[in-house]
Amino acid sequence: MKLLICSDVHGNIRALDAVLDAYRDLLPCRFLFLGDAVGYGAHPRECLGRLLALPGASLVMGNHDLAVLSLNERKTFNTDAFTALEWTVNRLDGKYNDPLVKSFEMLIEDGEYLAAHGSPLFPEEFPYLTTIYEAEKVFQKFDFSLCFVGHTHVPMVYTYVGGPKSPEPGKPFALDPSGRYIINPGSVGQPRDGDNRASFMILDPDEGTVTLHRLVYNIEAEAKDIKAAGLPERFAERLFRGR
Ligand code: ZN
Repeated sequence: MKLLICSDVHGNIRALDAVLDAYRDLLPCRFLFLGDAVGYGAHPRECLGRLLALPGASLVMGNHDLAVLSLNERKTFNTDAFTALEWTVNRLDGKYNDPLVKSFEMLIEDGEYLAAHGSPLFPEEFPYLTTIYEAEKVFQKFDFSLCFVGHTHVPMVYTYVGGPKSPEPGKPFALDPSGRYIINPGSVGQPRDGDNRASFMILDPDEGTVTLHRLVYNIEAEAKDIKAAGLPERFAERLFRGR
């Protein structure tokens, strides 16, 4: 069965809804979310509600999600992100604390794949996996063919031999059955690779491919909501730039 992989929604409900529409068209299909449902954006309740309502979805805990549960974690963020998280905590009003604890996992090892928000080496510290050096350490520590990570907001495929590759939207990336891969699907709601469209990937185990997809959504309306909520305006402006 296919697997939709997505990450870093960051309270952007219109971007998430675009991805969920695509997901429904793929059914039957599995769903893997790699963390950061909230933070930066104006719709934390709606985003958490949608993700938690997906039957059988695998959900990973991101640093912004964990920060909802912990003031100490919130204090590790910069001023604007901290402001947005305090706003988010007020907005959620404790309603999602139990579901976050129960349904969001720091590390998933399900036999078919390994998944974490940052590097799986230290899942609770959320280090970024951005270099071949970091990827190499993950390849060495864990036994897997497929590992999925988020956190950087930049889609990437790290191969065991041959280094990192930037996948092209709509072009299936062939996975060697004996190969090993660390795959980042980019960000649904706060892309940072210069493409402002919502980003996600689809794994097709029968074809042996993973494909990056990008979807247009109503950025203007989402940015307006961020400003109307009184959140730092740069989080709205970044949506247009995709950076
Ligand atoms: Zn993020």
